[in-house]
Amino acid sequence: MAQMPALFISHGSPMLALEEAPTTVFLRQLSSQLPTPKAIIVASAHWETEPLSITGATHPRTIHDFQGFPKALYELRYPAAGNPELAKRLQTLFKESGIESRIDSEYGLDHGAWNPLLLMYPRADIPVIEISVQPHRDARWHYRIGQALATLKQEDILIIGTGNLTHNLREAFLGQHTTTPPWVSEFATWVDAQLAHGDIESLLDWHTLAPHAKRNHPSPEHFLPFFVALGAADTPLHAKRLHNEVAMGVLAMDAYVF
Ligand code: ZN
Repeated sequence: MAQMPALFISHGSPMLALEEAPTTVFLRQLSSQLPTPKAIIVASAHWETEPLSITGATHPRTIHDFQGFPKALYELRYPAAGNPELAKRLQTLFKESGIESRIDSEYGLDHGAWNPLLLMYPRADIPVIEISVQPHRDARWHYRIGQALATLKQEDILIIGTGNLTHNLREAFLGQHTTTPPWVSEFATWVDAQLAHGDIESLLDWHTLAPHAKRNHPSPEHFLPFFVALGAADTPLHAKRLHNEVAMGVLAMDAYVF
């Protein structure tokens, strides 16, 4: 892979960083399949703002944005640098695309960002900028955000959307599913089929076209980073599913490279 791709990663539970699972094994070897990036831009499901926000800190803090997990998880840090100059550049690119944004120098990296990055780039030696999602806006909006960023791939900047391919947390915690229910697998299969056909328009209308859309995403924030990554993809689309696992019965952990 010569040119920098864009990635969608399903990050699962915050325990990902401490667990041994197929997804941790996958994430640990992922960077060896990619060119080395000069910087990483991560669109995280766990930062919801209006307008679109961009981290501007020189040293973004590690945010432990979860409760009731083991102490060891709160002791983890991801000390990657930020890149305030690149943050300003993002704001300019968004403005040129008619997207209002603001730079937030207080926010750091939430677990949607640092949890997978800790596995992918454990040395934390690549600067990271996080951007937010706007859950009251649709897939097309997030696709436009990705399109605005696409040019940065030519400068060896890696664009990652981090969420979950399916994300019904209530059903995950009920723990009633010992095998993957059809409403999960049919959704994941549908997404993969649209990608294989390059049918971006159908994907952008996922909430009406995808099977069991609402059940897999009672709220959309964990699927929206998928569209940021998709928007940053080259056209015609070449999407490849790099990984899939179903965690906690119903959380599809699919990862894609575009
Ligand atoms: Zn999450």
